Amino acid sequence: MTGIKLGCIADDFTGATDLANNLVRAGMRVVQVIGVPSEGQGLDTEVDAVVVALKSRTIPPAQAIEQSLQAMAWLRGQGAQQVYFKYCSTFDSIYSGEVRGNIGAVTEALMDALGTDFTIATPAFPDNKRTVFKGYLFVGDVLLNESGMENHPLTPMRDANLIRVMQAQSKRKVGLIDYARVARGETAVRESIAQLKSEGRGIAIVDAVSNEDLMRLGPALADMPLITAGSGVAIGLPQNFGIQPSAAASALPAPAGWQAIVSGSCSLATNRQVVHFKSAGHPAMALDPLRIARQQATGADVVAEVLAWAQPLLQDGPVLVYSTADASAVKASQSQLGVEEAGALMERTLAAIARGLVGLGVRQLIVAGGETSGACVQALDIRQMKIGPQIDPGVPWCHAQTAVSGIHLTLKSGNFGTDDFFSKAFTMLA
Ligand code: ADP
Repeated sequence: MTGIKLGCIADDFTGATDLANNLVRAGMRVVQVIGVPSEGQGLDTEVDAVVVALKSRTIPPAQAIEQSLQAMAWLRGQGAQQVYFKYCSTFDSIYSGEVRGNIGAVTEALMDALGTDFTIATPAFPDNKRTVFKGYLFVGDVLLNESGMENHPLTPMRDANLIRVMQAQSKRKVGLIDYARVARGETAVRESIAQLKSEGRGIAIVDAVSNEDLMRLGPALADMPLITAGSGVAIGLPQNFGIQPSAAASALPAPAGWQAIVSGSCSLATNRQVVHFKSAGHPAMALDPLRIARQQATGADVVAEVLAWAQPLLQDGPVLVYSTADASAVKASQSQLGVEEAGALMERTLAAIARGLVGLGVRQLIVAGGETSGACVQALDIRQMKIGPQIDPGVPWCHAQTAVSGIHLTLKSGNFGTDDFFSKAFTMLA
């Protein structure tokens, strides 16, 4: 197997999939690895890029650094020629007391480890309406600190000036490669980098307001050992390795086996998707946390009951098992069980059901819900996923190895996907 070209470290799970999806659309074959791989862990297939999905956005900086360095060492061991540190396109990370953000801390630790004196930082992702102009981050038409992010419970962002934000997190001096330079293309960007270096700056915020800007920026980054960015910058990098967009990049093995959906997401989009699927006449079983808590108190095996219901139906088409509910129902179960306990109970139950369904021969599985997906991936003992074609923006089909078999899997976070997402996804795979 030849080595990988690009090694990526993402600070959360759905962000990792978002980046992987962009790389695949730009022509790279990509695997997403869950958590820091163990030293001896290798790759199941030959790919151009690997995205290691961490959960390091809101953990203390020392831990975020340690995990990121371990991920980097493993990626380099796989042959990575360039390292990409991916964070959220709202540039947020833990911010409390003395801690002013993990992005700067992790960036500088990676720079030190790679022995490089310069990198860029830009969360620009125009497809998702995140743009950077004169160093200020816009979300849609408003500045970051007017977008609602100023009130985020864990990672509030009260300043849209990324030079100030990054400077507060970094020992190195931070500068700007502005819109006019990026618009003039590779040579102008390279001149700007040389200028910033001569001023003793080690990190540059880069303006970008369109995909064209990101495509122009890409070639100027070809020889940079470390890139730090949202998922947007990724669209301009595969060209540096002589890779062009192609359908082959998203090729997965042929689908087989039964089809099922497990949904623990209570987001509005998922509620609509559940209604849509049921109204098409497909079999569906609703799970109610209060009833499950009562049943479990009497020693009943809820998971076995659900699997017994599903087994005879699977040969006729997809089945849906869901705890998806509207806001008032969610409130009702939370007020009796507690928010965390209700969530943990459903995650445990749905993950065990997902495992049971795969045991029954399900080989095409949709999981709805970010936390629910994390629980299911863990229960299925999935360590890596080959990224396939995009179903809806940000949601690709993947292929993964479980303890029993290879399966096709898609992990849909709450508000993603059209109303007919479930049926559309299976049709697309077929
Ligand atoms: P999303 O991506 O839509 O946010 P998540 O899976 O991340 O979905 O989060 C949904 C959370 O709500 C999970 O912890 C899940 O276990 C929990 N949950 C699911 N169904 C219910 C329900 N009916 N009542 C209360 N909590 C629920």
